[in-house]
Amino acid sequence: MKHYDIESWALYRNNRIDENQRRLMENHLAVCDSCLKSYLAAAAKYEIRLGELLLPPDFNVAVNESIKIKKQQAARRRRSRSLANYTVAAAITLALMSGGIFDLCTRELPDILASTQHLSRAIEQTAHWDTGQLLETARAQLEKLRENKEE
Ligand SMILES: [Zn+2]
Repeated sequence: MKHYDIESWALYRNNRIDENQRRLMENHLAVCDSCLKSYLAAAAKYEIRLGELLLPPDFNVAVNESIKIKKQQAARRRRSRSLANYTVAAAITLALMSGGIFDLCTRELPDILASTQHLSRAIEQTAHWDTGQLLETARAQLEKLRENKEE
């Protein structure tokens, strides 16, 4: 089997061969792994050169610079956010401690939890009732509208 070198594949990639040659090379490319590698290498070389032509010369420097700035901004934001979280948590803890809420919790928590369960059940029932009521009201309003139109 006759193989093609990387220069031939570069010509193929850049459309610098005649139709006959193109067909031959495509048929070969379909069955030859080694030439597929050469073709991909030639194509990659071409794409990189094209990229270098299209991008400004300081593109890498500019990208690296903006990545560095973004990282610094993110770190600064994270630091200030965690400080704010800590301050809020400390303030809440102090407020609760001074109010004796922790003592209250250990004493009353079981009762509070039990009544919360009752409460959530009550809320659920009310919500169901409210939804039904809401639909009923909406239907009554629509009916009234239709009657008004027919008059
Ligand atoms: Zn080959």
